[in-house]
Amino acid sequence: MARLQIDGGCHCGKIGYEANVDPANVIICHCTDCQANSGAPYRANVLVKAENFKLRGQPSTYVKTADSGNRRLLAFCSDCGSALYSTTVEDPRIYNVRLGSVNQRAQLTPRAQGFCRSAMPWAMDIRNIPQLPDPPAASSSPRRAARGRG
Ligand SMILES: [Zn+2]
Ligand SMILES: [Zn+2]
Repeated sequence: MARLQIDGGCHCGKIGYEANVDPANVIICHCTDCQANSGAPYRANVLVKAENFKLRGQPSTYVKTADSGNRRLLAFCSDCGSALYSTTVEDPRIYNVRLGSVNQRAQLTPRAQGFCRSAMPWAMDIRNIPQLPDPPAASSSPRRAARGRG
């Protein structure tokens, strides 16, 4: 599959990035850390090699220790709180870039999902949940078109 050039950043615009990715490397994580840290029922990431990741601005970081003992550096914007990526604390080789921060996210379909034992029982099938009508689109920009109430 062709590689994809992506960009993105936080909601307020203080932190931005560019990256070159393999669209096959998109995974959902249902772990309880992702649930708590993102505030969402699950998280999706696109994996980016360090040499293909160009960051603009200085995110805040939080180090969490997993059950396995692995320490992970979580990066987010100190102004707007948007989650941006996680990586290893020492010598980052791979960045798990948060899919919701990627402008091209609609082109990045997850290929796998992990930690399914802690998945919300409904998360595997949201298709049949009744849909609310979309509000009128404000603009054609993908980031702004669907800006909700948060
Ligand atoms: Zn921000
Ligand atoms: Zn996780």
